[in-house]
Amino acid sequence: MAEGDGASRVALVTGAARGIGRGIAERLAADGLDVAVNDVEDNEGELTEVAESIRKAGRRAAAVPADVSDPEAVEGMVRRVADELGQLNVMVANAGVAEVKALLDLSPDDWNRMMAINLRGVFLCYQEAARQMIRQGTGGKIIGAASIVAYRPFPMLGHYSVAKWGVRGLTQAAAMEWAEHNITVNAYCPGIVGTDMWDLIDEGLAEHEGLQKGEAIEKYSDLIALGRVEEPRDVAAFVSYLASKDSDYMTGQSVMIDGGIQFS
Ligand code: NAD
Repeated sequence: MAEGDGASRVALVTGAARGIGRGIAERLAADGLDVAVNDVEDNEGELTEVAESIRKAGRRAAAVPADVSDPEAVEGMVRRVADELGQLNVMVANAGVAEVKALLDLSPDDWNRMMAINLRGVFLCYQEAARQMIRQGTGGKIIGAASIVAYRPFPMLGHYSVAKWGVRGLTQAAAMEWAEHNITVNAYCPGIVGTDMWDLIDEGLAEHEGLQKGEAIEKYSDLIALGRVEEPRDVAAFVSYLASKDSDYMTGQSVMIDGGIQFS
């Protein structure tokens, strides 16, 4: 099935039970794509709700729980999307975790868990999506979650920053290798988005810096030129562009969408 032959384009968004992923899934549905949503099995209830909101918006939806760090689970997830929605045109490898810990306190297990989800998980999603798009012969759009810390790490988020830096490198390598298949690969780099992830970061930084709950996010928000904390819809609007034909001539880029914290 070729893109543009009348069939709806299909997107898969990982880590979509809440936060940025949910915002992206709902935005892509509003853009007219059918959307499959993924998250860990523990969040299946929330995932079903997101799928329901996509159906209410008039699009087809599928809920495909899987752990993105598990190669077999990722393969099964992409196969299910192709079976249930017909094809895969846009992969958004959004799932990720954060952990606030000093480099001196990190255990090898802390390091491995971070890399398994935030870097290997993105790699596995990129790879399975590319295999599916190549089988279809349609080309497609592969999009990953990096971060401003892919350009300048945050202290106390060292391993997280390294994983996001890795996503930037992976995005460049994949863009080079898959251009011949008409697949573009780009990443978005949010700044400080008011989600559950930042609640966790705020708590960890507050403990480290002797601040009250809410004070760390307030302190770091002073860095934002546009003067407000980012919302999932701000990220989703940019991902909407990356998923659209308007970005056809763009590949290998990791672009900051952060209200003006870092400048490229
Ligand atoms: P969040 O914690 O609110 O949501 C992340 C979702 O990913 C959760 O629903 C979680 O269950 C899911 N997830 C975690 N591990 C998974 C796994 N192994 N398999 C499948 N799903 C898994 O976080 P968010 O703020 O919405 O962040 C989304 C993405 O954006 C992440 O990759 C994050 O690193 C990145 N990001 C966030 C910010 C921010 O300020 N919040 C900034 C830059 C980048």
